[in-house]
Amino acid sequence: MSGDILRSGSQTSGPLKPPGIDKKSLHLSHLPERHIMKPSTFPRTPGSVDPNNPPWPAFRGYHTYSFANATMGVRLPTILSKAIQDVLMTVNTLSAESLIIDLLGCVKRMEELKAELEGNGVLRYIKDDGEADVALWNKEIAKYFLGKDFMNATWLFAEAYKYRRLRECFTLSQHWADYDVFFRQKCDTFSRSTDAVFELSCRFVEPFMHAAHISEGEKLDAEKLMFHELTQICLWGNSTDLSLLINMTEEQIKSLQSTGGEALAQTEKNILGNHTEQLWDLVKKLKGKTRGGRIDFILDNAGFELYCDCVYADFLVQMGFASQVRFHGKRYPWFVSDVTKKDWEWLLNSMVYGRLFPDVTEIERESLKSLGERWKEYERNGTWIYEQHPYWCTGYTFWDLHSEAPDLFLHLSKSDLVIFKGDLNHRKLTYDCAAPASTPFSVAIGSMASAPGAPPVCSMRTIKSDVVVGLGKNGDEIAANLNKEEDGWKISGKYAVVLLSGGRPGEQVRFA
Ligand SMILES: [Mg+2]
Repeated sequence: MSGDILRSGSQTSGPLKPPGIDKKSLHLSHLPERHIMKPSTFPRTPGSVDPNNPPWPAFRGYHTYSFANATMGVRLPTILSKAIQDVLMTVNTLSAESLIIDLLGCVKRMEELKAELEGNGVLRYIKDDGEADVALWNKEIAKYFLGKDFMNATWLFAEAYKYRRLRECFTLSQHWADYDVFFRQKCDTFSRSTDAVFELSCRFVEPFMHAAHISEGEKLDAEKLMFHELTQICLWGNSTDLSLLINMTEEQIKSLQSTGGEALAQTEKNILGNHTEQLWDLVKKLKGKTRGGRIDFILDNAGFELYCDCVYADFLVQMGFASQVRFHGKRYPWFVSDVTKKDWEWLLNSMVYGRLFPDVTEIERESLKSLGERWKEYERNGTWIYEQHPYWCTGYTFWDLHSEAPDLFLHLSKSDLVIFKGDLNHRKLTYDCAAPASTPFSVAIGSMASAPGAPPVCSMRTIKSDVVVGLGKNGDEIAANLNKEEDGWKISGKYAVVLLSGGRPGEQVRFA
């Protein structure tokens, strides 16, 4: 700027300077002082935030220090290899030639995708496979990621894009559009969680009754203690994430799924940002509404975690905190273990009709069956509703939910509490960027907290990736100490957060 002023000044006014004059000899005492602009400042102002430029620096695959790097370089190709094996297992069971050839076409496309990932190819447009979300994906690529590759696009977008491309491998086929390459794995982890499954079914099969002759105050105290423990079960149920369990032994999985009281007390101190008390204050007030409020779960993983979510939702209904629970799943296979409609139906039906657990007692089997029957009745009478909005399977974060899916924002604004489960939902809430760990949750989630009509939002997440916020005023110190003392604390699933934003419920939703 100042250079332009000097040039134009020298051309239009005063005598021409002798050649070789030093700029320093000019007297500029009446001009404003020079400002030293930092090359970039964070957080970015709202107007300069976009999917490739989050409010704080994005995580990208080429950051060798981040989990993004390991995911893009190793984990995603491994997941694809396993997915190809799954499809080939299915090929081996087929007899009709047209089905075989069609499915082998899917394998070929998966192999091409794997080669692109391993060769760090440029992100291309999604092909027109007849799906309703093609335009939304290609709009985001055109506006923010044109010419970017798997490693230099934001990690969040590149990873989500991979699952959409995997979807495309099948939607371009004649007969296999609904094939789920992860279905076998998802079913397996539920079947292998015997101890934890029956621990919960035997405790919760009978509708809950308070002890006789206790006061209202005592009842509320008892409910509060149960709420705390069930919140933790719902939280740690999130440890079961198939995309991360690739190298875990069964023993390790079992210890992650532990539902015993002692283990829960131990694990409470691993909840680094803990708003469970505030959550209880909010939930207990819902009892005052006509037979409870509306609670929404934005689901994460199928199988054991979904089962824990349902136990929690059942408790909220039985205690009169919720009169309606809406569960939000994915439209197609997503981040390996996420819940689809098929997984939802599979869980409820296999509880009632299945023979998944050959070694349990008759009483245990009955407990699981009765629990499943109660949940199916909730579905029939509209107490529980399963939904699958297309926005949950896009590369956009939830900062853009208000602008890119206004119908969904309006829908959620009518909820009394929206619980986001798991790591990916947390990444999307917080724009998956390097915000300081002391950043308040309601600041980190942008318009999901600040837009008029934003519902109360809770994130229940075991920490499995780089973004960590909401640890309180000394959060930066806590994170710095953990960085020093415990390698991999952000990806082990050993730590967690339960964070709440009050939102702006009741205000009229507005769109620009
Ligand atoms: Mg998941």
